[in-house]
Amino acid sequence: MLIEAKDLCKYYGKGESEVKALDNACLSIDKGEMTAIVGTSGAGKSTLLHLLGGLDKPSSGVVRYEGENIFDYSERKLARFRLKKIGFVFQFFGLVPELTAWNNIILPAGLNRNADKEYIRHICDTLGINDRLTHYPSQLSGGQQQRVAIARALANKPSVLLCDEPTGNLDEASGKEVMELLARVRKEYGQTVIIITHDSSVAGQCDRIIKINDGKLTENG
Ligand code: ADP
Repeated sequence: MLIEAKDLCKYYGKGESEVKALDNACLSIDKGEMTAIVGTSGAGKSTLLHLLGGLDKPSSGVVRYEGENIFDYSERKLARFRLKKIGFVFQFFGLVPELTAWNNIILPAGLNRNADKEYIRHICDTLGINDRLTHYPSQLSGGQQQRVAIARALANKPSVLLCDEPTGNLDEASGKEVMELLARVRKEYGQTVIIITHDSSVAGQCDRIIKINDGKLTENG
């Protein structure tokens, strides 16, 4: 088992305005699995993904990677863990507008002295963006921007890709293409992938579908 979440609770706010975004969520994910997380808006999907990626801390509960609780780490060690082990892909791409596609892609790798430029070029090749690397985000279509964002997420050879509605801002054809590319990079580089999605055809391409409703998890067989 690669990732284990145990009894994760997350509360936002206090007193009258308290929201229980996650309610004793338990989850285990094997290396190489592609898992969809589905649920209505406000169900707790992003909260869960942020906790799994160490972007936020739970109110209680643990997230273990290969047996280690990441919330026992110091801030510095947690930041290092995120940088090296996790790639994030977001709905609105999150590219830096002032940087070219290539400079966006190598941004996190620049923080990692061991970045492998040869490998990054290979990823760009797989993602079909080699002829767009000198372009700025505003010069790229949504689908191209998301492919650049995926290349950036992969730049440090993370073992896990966490994707929050990666096709949510794309038209159907670009969304399909991005999913095919995610499946291809996962096959080629062996990442474990977790995808939040509203789209049942995206969920249908995953090995597992985990449903979340009012902060509670259930799994489809
Ligand atoms: P989803 O991703 O499924 O739409 P979220 O995880 O974003 O759901 O949110 C779960 C619940 O937590 C919602 O009721 C939302 O309003 C609440 N929530 C999320 N983030 C915050 C926050 N920073 N402060 C207060 N409430 C929040």
